[in-house]
Amino acid sequence: MNFKRIIVWFRNDLRTRDQEALYKACQTGAEVIPVYCFDHRHFEPTALGFPKTGNYRAKFLLESVKDLRDNLIDLGGNLILLRGKPEVEVITFAERMEADAIFFSEEVSAEELNVDKSLEKAAWSKGIATESFWQSTLYHIDDLPFPVSQTPEVFTQFRKSVEKMASVRSTYPQPSSINFPSKERLPLEGTIPDLNTYGLEEPEAEHRSVMQFDGGESAGLRRIQAYFWEEDRLKAYKETRNGLIGADYSSKFSAWLALGCISPRTIYEEVKRYEKERKKNQSTYWLVFELIWRDYFRLICKKHGTRVFHIGGIKHQKDSWRRDSADFQRWCEGMTGVPFVDANMRELKYSGFMSNRGRQNVASFLVNDLGIDWTWGASYFESQLIDYDVCSNWGNWMYVGGVGNDPRENRYFNILRQGKNYDGNGDYVRLWIPELAAIKGFDIHHPWELSTTELKSAGVILGDTYPQTMVDLAGVY
Ligand SMILES: Cc1cc2nc3c(=O)[nH]c(=O)nc-3n(C[C@H](O)[C@H](O)[C@H](O)COP(=O)(O)OP(=O)(O)OC[C@H]3O[C@@H](n4cnc5c(N)ncnc54)[C@H](O)[C@@H]3O)c2cc1C
Repeated sequence: MNFKRIIVWFRNDLRTRDQEALYKACQTGAEVIPVYCFDHRHFEPTALGFPKTGNYRAKFLLESVKDLRDNLIDLGGNLILLRGKPEVEVITFAERMEADAIFFSEEVSAEELNVDKSLEKAAWSKGIATESFWQSTLYHIDDLPFPVSQTPEVFTQFRKSVEKMASVRSTYPQPSSINFPSKERLPLEGTIPDLNTYGLEEPEAEHRSVMQFDGGESAGLRRIQAYFWEEDRLKAYKETRNGLIGADYSSKFSAWLALGCISPRTIYEEVKRYEKERKKNQSTYWLVFELIWRDYFRLICKKHGTRVFHIGGIKHQKDSWRRDSADFQRWCEGMTGVPFVDANMRELKYSGFMSNRGRQNVASFLVNDLGIDWTWGASYFESQLIDYDVCSNWGNWMYVGGVGNDPRENRYFNILRQGKNYDGNGDYVRLWIPELAAIKGFDIHHPWELSTTELKSAGVILGDTYPQTMVDLAGVY
């Protein structure tokens, strides 16, 4: 179809490379107007009272939008910023600009799909064409060897099937230039809001953070460069990925992937290049393996729709969860009295990030040891994580909560054993729980087993300087 003027509506795809919607719009030869709409619903409080988007992710989002605008300006375009409901504002803007098409990325979860439907309906009624593009996964949805409704419930089956029968498409290049309308035609380009607009405060600088996460495509590409090429960490990823401290035990790509600042295919191509130029081993494969997990949760979300947010999950489990606000609050604040859990929860609270090992442990503790509603945990993560991704978060929580598609019946994490295996000397706990720092070695993981004299010499009074444990974890480790 021949279009005269196309709106490219950016969502969780804040990049200019491997951006099919932008690339295809530019290819048509039409005038192209990139647009982003700040949707206030993303910042509203949840039923539990947390902001849906907390300050770490909000800051990262604002930086990403700014970087996208800069990159689009470099290509001869700009990014028009709107505020409100995209299904209303993008349409009004398209009408005002006499655009005849809107291009955008396809999403999978309920809230986004509702927005898509309303936008498409409104566009149709105004005679504006819409085209959506699937561009968030490693494997393209059209290349899967099964229809989405038949996505295997077990990850290994899913992985083996896609690895055998599908291949990863090449990335789209960055458009060489954008045919942007002349200034006289355009309304004001709009300003980027600040955190105050959404009642959020600037996060405080935290020197213990694994790294500084700067939002945007440029920073995401720099991170790939640093992790793969400068620090040369990919070749050891499989051995280091369960680490807890510092930037390089894992890729830290998640925040950029979540907002689409970098695409999984871009990472894949860099892995292939690394394998050719540096080394190919189990570690280089393993990073791709993890990206397949990401695809898998996205497709499971698409397959099961709103069920992934239901208390019974996709297994329709009976609701027998506890809803004790005080206990839940102690978990959120990192005050459970179980140091490995508290260290991880404090890292999340003070930095917006937590390792995969940490996430599995604190989630298991909440659902298995405290018996608290898994959706509360997922909701807190949604607010707090800098890399929150609707499918990866709710999919993983369903898994840990035992209401997802895990073939294993009980995914219980023995916290002390985990602490022993992954933080044997207690350095991670010491980093985030300074009030226990004087306890030597692994003993820091179980202060309740120390004598009064030992505690006293470390300056610890349980129930005073550090909480008594909420659960009895005595046992094997
Ligand atoms: C309870 C729980 C909640 C989670 N919530 C999120 C979330 O909201 N957003 C998110 O991106 N990840 C989530 N994860 C998955 C995982 O913990 C993070 O992706 C990972 O820790 C991010 O660090 P990284 O980029 O260094 O990962 P790496 O180990 O370097 O992995 C590379 C990439 O693979 C993907 N990946 C790795 N593990 C998983 C996984 N288990 N599920 C899906 N994708 C994965 C991520 O995109 C990650 O960036 C969650 C895990 C658990 C157990």
